[in-house]
Amino acid sequence: MSNKKISIAIDGYSSTGKSTMAKELARRLGYGYVDTGAMYRAVTLYAMRHGIIKDNMIDEPALLASLPSLTITFAPSADGRNETYLCGENVEQEIRTMEVSDHVSAVAAIGGVRRHLVKLQQDMGKAGGIVMDGRDIGTVVLPDAELKVFVTASAQVRAQRRYDELRAKGDTTATLEQVLANVTERDRIDTTRAESPLRRADDALLLDNSDMTREQQNRWLYEAAIQRIDDDHRD
Ligand code: C5P
Repeated sequence: MSNKKISIAIDGYSSTGKSTMAKELARRLGYGYVDTGAMYRAVTLYAMRHGIIKDNMIDEPALLASLPSLTITFAPSADGRNETYLCGENVEQEIRTMEVSDHVSAVAAIGGVRRHLVKLQQDMGKAGGIVMDGRDIGTVVLPDAELKVFVTASAQVRAQRRYDELRAKGDTTATLEQVLANVTERDRIDTTRAESPLRRADDALLLDNSDMTREQQNRWLYEAAIQRIDDDHRD
């Protein structure tokens, strides 16, 4: 394998397991990893805590005014997991709740929020050697990424995965129907928003993992990455 470090963009629908795959790939390659969804979630949590989202309404001017003062960083936990910090506070658990999931896509549809976070993400990715996952990484954040993957699976399969994940964490607040409704609604908002909607980049490989085990997905992705790194070396 060559030593040149490429950039890898992993986009796709909610709850396809792309973060888990992306993290595992970054670990195997010795690359950095950025979970851009966690950044949108952290902004959403901030807005919820500060009364900027109330009764399902977002005070956009107040949210945009607060963005420059927000710091969103990542640091590994004691057992090596990537955790999200908002202004120095570990918010990894809180950003994954259904309450945040219910508001995040509306926050992520705001142009000013996207422009602010995209700039931070581009700064994080500019040195290469990075795996970044999200919705617009291959199309907007890292359009020159050497490897782009677009991950999809049926809504039913994705809802079941998300539901199992919440249960495993002891979160029993949502029913499977509610999780399915959330996944479907986020798909709708993400694909129809005016500002960088979720879509597969023309040069992205498609991965439908509805019927794949986690190991099969990891292997598929690792092999795609090694192939691309080798090709890049030969260019
Ligand atoms: O990846 P995750 O499901 O945690 O992302 C939460 C939400 O953040 C998505 O449903 C989407 O609305 C938004 N998002 C986005 N662009 C990204 C990453 C996430 O709009 N690059």
